[in-house]
Amino acid sequence: MPQATINKEEDKRLIINAYRRLLKSMKSDMDDTDRKNIRMAYEIAVEAHSKQRRKSGEPYILHPIEVARICAVEIGLGPTAIIAALLHDVVEDTEVTLEEVTEKFGDRIGLIVDGLTKLDGMYNVESKQAENFKKVLRTLVEDVRVILIKMADRLHNMRTLGSMPRHKQLKIAAETDYIYSPLAHRLGLYNIKTEFQDLIMKIKEPETYQEIVSKLQDTEQERASYVKEFIKPITDALSEINYPYRITGRPKSIYSIWNKIKTKKIPFEEIYDLFAIRIILDVPIKKEKQICWVVYSIITDVHTPIPERLKDWITTPKSNGYESLHTTVVGPMGRFVEVQIRSQRMDEIAERGFAAHWKYKGVTTDTQADVYDNWLDSVREILENNDSDAIEFLSDFKTNLFNEEVYVYTPKGDMKILPKGATALDFAFSIHTDIGYHCSAIKINNKLVPMGYKLQNGDQVTITTNKNQKPSEAWLKMVVTGKARSKIRFAMKEVKRKQGEFGKEALERKLKNLKVSFEENVDTLVKFYGLKSRPDLYFDIATEEILVQDIKDHFSVEGNKLVLIPKEKEGIEVPEITEVKRGRKYEGTPRLMINGSSDEYQYSLASCCNPVQGDHVFGYLTANVGLKIHRTTCPNATNLMANYGYRIMKAEWVSSTKSSFVAELIITGVDDGPGVIERLSRSISSDLGLNIRSFFIEGHEGYFEGKINLLVTNKNQLNIAIRGLQNLDGISSVTRTEA
Ligand code: MN
Repeated sequence: MPQATINKEEDKRLIINAYRRLLKSMKSDMDDTDRKNIRMAYEIAVEAHSKQRRKSGEPYILHPIEVARICAVEIGLGPTAIIAALLHDVVEDTEVTLEEVTEKFGDRIGLIVDGLTKLDGMYNVESKQAENFKKVLRTLVEDVRVILIKMADRLHNMRTLGSMPRHKQLKIAAETDYIYSPLAHRLGLYNIKTEFQDLIMKIKEPETYQEIVSKLQDTEQERASYVKEFIKPITDALSEINYPYRITGRPKSIYSIWNKIKTKKIPFEEIYDLFAIRIILDVPIKKEKQICWVVYSIITDVHTPIPERLKDWITTPKSNGYESLHTTVVGPMGRFVEVQIRSQRMDEIAERGFAAHWKYKGVTTDTQADVYDNWLDSVREILENNDSDAIEFLSDFKTNLFNEEVYVYTPKGDMKILPKGATALDFAFSIHTDIGYHCSAIKINNKLVPMGYKLQNGDQVTITTNKNQKPSEAWLKMVVTGKARSKIRFAMKEVKRKQGEFGKEALERKLKNLKVSFEENVDTLVKFYGLKSRPDLYFDIATEEILVQDIKDHFSVEGNKLVLIPKEKEGIEVPEITEVKRGRKYEGTPRLMINGSSDEYQYSLASCCNPVQGDHVFGYLTANVGLKIHRTTCPNATNLMANYGYRIMKAEWVSSTKSSFVAELIITGVDDGPGVIERLSRSISSDLGLNIRSFFIEGHEGYFEGKINLLVTNKNQLNIAIRGLQNLDGISSVTRTEA
């Protein structure tokens, strides 16, 4: 690598400065052994990575040093994690072996570094990402620091994505969106989760991101003086509580503002709660709850509260450990202001999650302190069925990272927290796997309900079991939690395996008959029939879905082996680029450069997100309909990119193209009769000079919602149209659909 020799002195200076910064960030309560080990880990890592550079050209070692610093400062981890973070990439990328690490630093650090080392190439590309993640989680249940360091690693990579090629940025952002960000939420790492969301948005929607950043800057002054005015009347009363406190008025994250603009369909200028007031009290644990409510009462004496916006996570913390008292009040000039009241301890838990939680464990008296233990138990249970397919596993695990929750009760009055949307059958599985398996009837508040009943807050759930009851395939549709899904799937596999035994015997006989070895040929057949595993093949043979006597029609016998008779490649599904018939008739063909080439690939525009020229896009190679072009913001894209990253191709518009694109707009407004439709269509065709492909409008009680498909030549023209329509009388919002 040519840069390696550019400036050794400069490199050295950078490395030493980074290391000093790390040391400075660590707490002073380390002993000499810790210090010595950190130094040793640093030296081993510097030496091991000495020949590597990051994409940006920097020495590679700066990455592990910074990951260690994030662990110390932003997550609050101690020396063990710092050492493991410094060493997290050595086994994977350098000559250093896991044995050496264990020998020098002990079993614990060996275990953590092992958990952070990706699996080698023995897995097929399809599920590699998922397999790696599964491995991380298996170590997670042994030592949570593995996942916390992984979070720091991902955070640093996200912060420094700038020098990566665009399609890699998108893939990494999608993975972060799919799993890391929800996991950060589940672990209570709110700051990290918020930063993930902002960074993801910065990659997917760079212009909108910058627009909000600069609007926030423009309005900073005005916001500061508003906060001042809001606080002034309450400070006197607050000083009477006799405990130190801090008040902050922080703007909400770029992502959450964007989300509000999208979901509420209002412009930036009309969002009033761009910030939240936070009051952090320095009170002893025993007084926390009481003083928080005193502060609540002081604030609501001055500013009128909106009762339905009161959220008490002090009495009942969220299942990720979050504790805080939130209320929304009417501030000066009639604006809604969110106020968060919490103790210093609660604030630390809210900001740093798990690590802070650990620190206070044992200090608090209530059982709430076990929220993480409960969660880890549930992860362990999903992991127990470790033969499940990695992508299935990842999706089961993901449902375990719920954002919102529902509180229900057992007949004895014990509270259970489940993800919002969970069903009565999920509840049965959450009590015990056997209760789930044999669940035969469910009562909610003493009334019989179907097993798929969606739980509501406050429901009291009674389960009746019957030992003859068994799970069926249909149950999978009645549950949402990872635990229930993986348990039902496991039971189904057992059933399949038993039935499959007959199929296996039949196949063994047949292959013996053909005089070929069973072991050496069975996987050839699995692949030929496009199945995932041997049990699938046995099952299909047992149910006569596949007939053993047909094998000789497809294969000839050569020596000990079955050899495919070459005709058409039937049955095997290989992702390959096929000619795609264009479904729509555009005048002219949209032109894109795919992976830098303008004529090598056939492609079509995805109909879920309807990209137009100028949108940020990428190509996705589907298994059977060729290359599809999606917008980077397409909701379908995240899942595709996170799980099938290798199918992603770079796509760029060729700027001179003259083509038409379909764009779908949702328009809402006040209904004043048939005039609306006329005004809209006149504005579109006469004023904007655009063609309408379809127009659908629906009114309800003085309000209407319309869906218009327009033909535009590029994103710019579309934006002009959106602005033009927004300015019409009686129109409240115009938004482009995402999927
Ligand atoms: Mn790394």
